[in-house]
Amino acid sequence: MTLDYLWRFGGLTNGISPLEMAGAYAAIANDGIYIQPTFYTKIEDLNGNIVRESRQNKRVVMSAESSYAVKDLLTEPVKNGTATNCTISGMSVAAKTGTTDANCDRWLCGFTPYYTAATWFGYDKNETIRFNGPNPASLIWIGVMSQIHNSLDGKTFAEGNTSDVVTKEICKSSGLLVTNSCRKHSGTYTEVFVAGTEPTQYCSFSSGQSKKKKSNISSNGDTTVIIKSVTGE
Ligand SMILES: [Zn+2]
Repeated sequence: MTLDYLWRFGGLTNGISPLEMAGAYAAIANDGIYIQPTFYTKIEDLNGNIVRESRQNKRVVMSAESSYAVKDLLTEPVKNGTATNCTISGMSVAAKTGTTDANCDRWLCGFTPYYTAATWFGYDKNETIRFNGPNPASLIWIGVMSQIHNSLDGKTFAEGNTSDVVTKEICKSSGLLVTNSCRKHSGTYTEVFVAGTEPTQYCSFSSGQSKKKKSNISSNGDTTVIIKSVTGE
Protein backbone atom coordinates (compact mmCIF):
# COMPACT_ATOMS: atom_id res chain seq x y z
CA MET A 1 0.00 0.00 0.00
CA THR A 2 1.52 3.30 -1.00
CA LEU A 3 1.33 6.14 1.48
CA ASP A 4 2.95 8.75 -0.75
CA TYR A 5 -0.24 10.80 -0.94
CA LEU A 6 0.23 11.93 2.63
CA TRP A 7 1.52 15.43 3.06
CA ARG A 8 5.18 15.84 3.67
CA PHE A 9 6.43 18.77 5.69
CA GLY A 10 9.46 21.03 5.84
CA GLY A 11 12.71 20.92 7.72
CA LEU A 12 14.13 18.00 5.74
CA THR A 13 15.06 18.08 2.03
CA ASN A 14 12.01 16.09 0.96
CA GLY A 15 9.92 16.60 4.06
CA ILE A 16 8.49 13.86 6.24
CA SER A 17 4.92 12.93 7.11
CA PRO A 18 3.46 12.44 10.60
CA LEU A 19 2.83 8.83 9.57
CA GLU A 20 6.52 8.32 8.87
CA MET A 21 7.42 9.99 12.16
CA ALA A 22 4.96 7.81 14.08
CA GLY A 23 6.40 4.73 12.34
CA ALA A 24 9.94 5.76 13.31
CA TYR A 25 9.04 6.45 16.94
CA ALA A 26 7.08 3.19 17.14
CA ALA A 27 10.31 1.40 16.15
CA ILE A 28 11.95 2.83 19.29
CA ALA A 29 8.91 1.79 21.34
CA ASN A 30 9.10 -1.71 19.81
CA ASP A 31 12.72 -2.29 20.90
CA GLY A 32 14.20 -1.47 17.50
CA ILE A 33 11.75 -3.31 15.25
CA TYR A 34 10.17 -1.15 12.54
CA ILE A 35 6.64 -2.23 11.65
CA GLN A 36 5.20 -0.84 8.43
CA PRO A 37 2.20 1.31 9.42
CA THR A 38 -1.24 0.14 8.41
CA PHE A 39 -4.73 1.60 8.68
CA TYR A 40 -6.48 -1.70 9.34
CA THR A 41 -5.68 -5.07 10.85
CA LYS A 42 -8.33 -7.30 9.23
CA ILE A 43 -11.67 -7.27 7.45
CA GLU A 44 -14.28 -9.93 8.22
CA ASP A 45 -17.55 -10.75 6.48
CA LEU A 46 -20.90 -11.15 8.26
CA ASN A 47 -20.03 -14.70 9.27
CA GLY A 48 -16.66 -13.82 10.75
CA ASN A 49 -14.63 -15.16 7.80
CA ILE A 50 -11.49 -13.13 7.21
CA VAL A 51 -11.75 -11.42 3.84
CA ARG A 52 -8.52 -9.49 4.05
CA GLU A 53 -5.73 -9.28 6.55
CA SER A 54 -3.11 -6.57 6.76
CA ARG A 55 0.42 -7.75 6.05
CA GLN A 56 2.91 -5.44 7.72
CA ASN A 57 6.57 -5.77 6.87
CA LYS A 58 8.78 -5.85 9.94
CA ARG A 59 12.49 -5.31 10.10
CA VAL A 60 15.13 -4.64 12.72
CA VAL A 61 16.38 -1.04 12.37
CA MET A 62 18.34 -0.67 15.61
CA SER A 63 19.50 -2.83 18.46
CA ALA A 64 17.28 -3.40 21.48
CA GLU A 65 19.99 -1.78 23.66
CA SER A 66 20.07 1.38 21.51
CA SER A 67 16.30 1.66 21.53
CA TYR A 68 16.25 1.20 25.29
CA ALA A 69 18.79 4.02 25.69
CA VAL A 70 16.82 6.31 23.34
CA LYS A 71 13.55 5.40 25.07
CA ASP A 72 15.04 6.35 28.41
CA LEU A 73 16.44 9.58 26.94
CA LEU A 74 13.01 10.50 25.55
CA THR A 75 11.39 10.32 28.97
CA GLU A 76 13.42 13.38 29.99
CA PRO A 77 11.49 16.06 27.97
CA VAL A 78 8.31 14.80 29.68
CA LYS A 79 9.83 14.84 33.17
CA ASN A 80 11.89 18.02 33.00
CA GLY A 81 11.89 19.50 29.52
CA THR A 82 9.75 20.89 26.74
CA ALA A 83 6.96 18.27 26.95
CA THR A 84 6.01 18.37 30.63
CA ASN A 85 2.35 18.87 29.61
CA CYS A 86 2.41 15.39 28.04
CA THR A 87 2.36 13.34 31.25
CA ILE A 88 -0.26 10.61 31.64
CA SER A 89 -0.97 9.51 35.19
CA GLY A 90 0.53 6.11 36.05
CA MET A 91 2.04 5.70 32.57
CA SER A 92 5.58 5.91 31.21
CA VAL A 93 5.70 8.52 28.46
CA ALA A 94 8.57 9.22 26.05
CA ALA A 95 8.21 12.29 23.85
CA LYS A 96 10.12 14.97 21.95
CA THR A 97 9.02 18.37 20.74
CA GLY A 98 10.38 19.72 17.45
CA THR A 99 10.56 23.14 15.84
CA THR A 100 12.00 24.12 12.46
CA ASP A 101 13.58 27.38 11.27
CA ALA A 102 11.46 30.50 11.89
CA ASN A 103 8.90 28.41 13.82
CA CYS A 104 7.26 27.12 10.62
CA ASP A 105 6.64 23.64 12.00
CA ARG A 106 5.81 22.46 15.51
CA TRP A 107 5.98 18.76 16.30
CA LEU A 108 5.30 16.40 19.14
CA CYS A 109 6.28 12.78 18.66
CA GLY A 110 6.10 10.25 21.44
CA PHE A 111 4.85 6.99 22.85
CA THR A 112 3.71 5.05 25.89
CA PRO A 113 3.91 1.28 26.47
CA TYR A 114 0.59 1.15 24.55
CA TYR A 115 0.55 3.69 21.72
CA THR A 116 2.78 5.88 19.56
CA ALA A 117 1.54 9.19 18.15
CA ALA A 118 3.06 12.00 16.08
CA THR A 119 1.39 15.39 15.73
CA TRP A 120 2.32 18.37 13.58
CA PHE A 121 1.02 21.91 13.76
CA GLY A 122 1.56 24.50 11.02
CA TYR A 123 0.41 26.10 7.79
CA ASP A 124 0.10 24.47 4.34
CA LYS A 125 2.74 26.87 3.08
CA ASN A 126 5.63 27.74 5.37
CA GLU A 127 4.63 30.56 7.67
CA THR A 128 5.79 31.39 11.15
CA ILE A 129 3.49 30.00 13.81
CA ARG A 130 2.70 32.55 16.50
CA PHE A 131 1.34 30.73 19.51
CA ASN A 132 1.65 31.58 23.16
CA GLY A 133 1.77 28.77 25.65
CA PRO A 134 2.86 25.14 25.27
CA ASN A 135 3.87 23.67 21.93
CA PRO A 136 0.54 23.55 20.03
CA ALA A 137 1.35 20.11 18.59
CA SER A 138 1.74 18.84 22.15
CA LEU A 139 -1.80 20.03 22.99
CA ILE A 140 -3.21 17.88 20.15
CA TRP A 141 -0.97 14.98 21.18
CA ILE A 142 -1.93 14.93 24.85
CA GLY A 143 -5.59 15.66 24.00
CA VAL A 144 -5.77 12.42 22.02
CA MET A 145 -3.35 10.31 24.04
CA SER A 146 -4.86 11.08 27.45
CA GLN A 147 -8.28 9.98 26.19
CA ILE A 148 -7.20 6.72 24.58
CA HIS A 149 -5.29 5.75 27.75
CA ASN A 150 -8.23 6.53 30.04
CA SER A 151 -9.39 2.95 30.48
CA LEU A 152 -5.94 1.32 30.29
CA ASP A 153 -3.96 0.05 33.27
CA GLY A 154 -0.94 2.15 34.23
CA LYS A 155 2.23 0.67 32.78
CA THR A 156 5.92 1.54 32.73
CA PHE A 157 8.51 0.84 30.03
CA ALA A 158 10.09 -2.57 30.43
CA GLU A 159 13.64 -2.51 31.79
CA GLY A 160 16.32 -3.24 29.20
CA ASN A 161 18.73 -6.12 29.53
CA THR A 162 21.04 -4.65 32.16
CA SER A 163 24.13 -6.47 30.90
CA ASP A 164 23.90 -4.57 27.60
CA VAL A 165 23.28 -1.10 29.04
CA VAL A 166 25.02 0.98 31.69
CA THR A 167 23.75 3.94 33.69
CA LYS A 168 26.08 6.87 34.43
CA GLU A 169 25.80 10.20 36.19
CA ILE A 170 26.62 12.87 33.60
CA CYS A 171 27.48 16.59 33.73
CA LYS A 172 24.79 18.69 32.05
CA SER A 173 27.36 21.07 30.56
CA SER A 174 30.05 18.80 29.22
CA GLY A 175 28.21 15.51 28.72
CA LEU A 176 31.11 13.81 30.51
CA LEU A 177 31.40 11.97 33.80
CA VAL A 178 30.79 14.20 36.82
CA THR A 179 33.30 15.74 39.19
CA ASN A 180 32.58 17.55 42.46
CA SER A 181 32.27 20.92 40.69
CA CYS A 182 29.59 19.78 38.20
CA ARG A 183 26.75 20.26 40.67
CA LYS A 184 27.86 23.87 41.14
CA HIS A 185 28.38 24.86 37.51
CA SER A 186 25.40 23.18 35.88
CA GLY A 187 24.02 20.12 37.60
CA THR A 188 24.01 16.47 36.68
CA TYR A 189 21.63 13.86 35.37
CA THR A 190 21.53 10.11 34.92
CA GLU A 191 21.78 8.67 31.41
CA VAL A 192 21.54 5.17 30.00
CA PHE A 193 24.20 4.08 27.48
CA VAL A 194 24.72 1.01 25.37
CA ALA A 195 27.59 -0.76 27.17
CA GLY A 196 30.89 0.42 25.71
CA THR A 197 29.59 3.78 24.46
CA GLU A 198 29.49 5.56 27.82
CA PRO A 199 31.89 8.50 28.35
CA THR A 200 35.11 7.61 30.12
CA GLN A 201 36.50 11.13 30.60
CA TYR A 202 35.64 13.39 33.50
CA CYS A 203 34.27 16.91 33.08
CA SER A 204 37.02 19.54 33.11
CA PHE A 205 34.83 22.64 33.54
CA SER A 206 35.44 24.63 36.66
CA SER A 207 32.51 25.74 38.82
CA GLY A 208 32.38 29.17 37.11
CA GLN A 209 31.87 27.77 33.62
CA SER A 210 28.63 26.61 32.09
CA LYS A 211 27.73 25.64 28.56
CA LYS A 212 24.19 24.73 27.66
CA LYS A 213 23.65 21.84 25.31
CA LYS A 214 20.88 22.19 22.76
CA SER A 215 18.94 19.41 21.09
CA ASN A 216 16.61 19.78 18.15
CA ILE A 217 14.45 17.56 16.00
CA SER A 218 14.25 18.92 12.51
CA SER A 219 11.21 17.81 10.66
CA ASN A 220 7.38 18.32 10.26
CA GLY A 221 1.86 17.68 9.27
CA ASP A 222 -1.84 18.71 10.89
CA THR A 223 -2.71 15.09 11.04
CA THR A 224 -2.69 12.91 14.11
CA VAL A 225 -1.42 9.46 13.39
CA ILE A 226 -1.73 6.69 15.95
CA ILE A 227 0.04 3.41 15.58
CA LYS A 228 -0.60 0.61 18.00
CA SER A 229 2.62 -0.35 19.67
CA VAL A 230 3.27 -4.04 19.81
CA THR A 231 5.35 -3.73 22.95
CA GLY A 232 3.45 -4.46 26.08
CA GLU A 233 0.30 -5.69 24.41
ZN1 LIG B 1 30.75 19.45 34.69
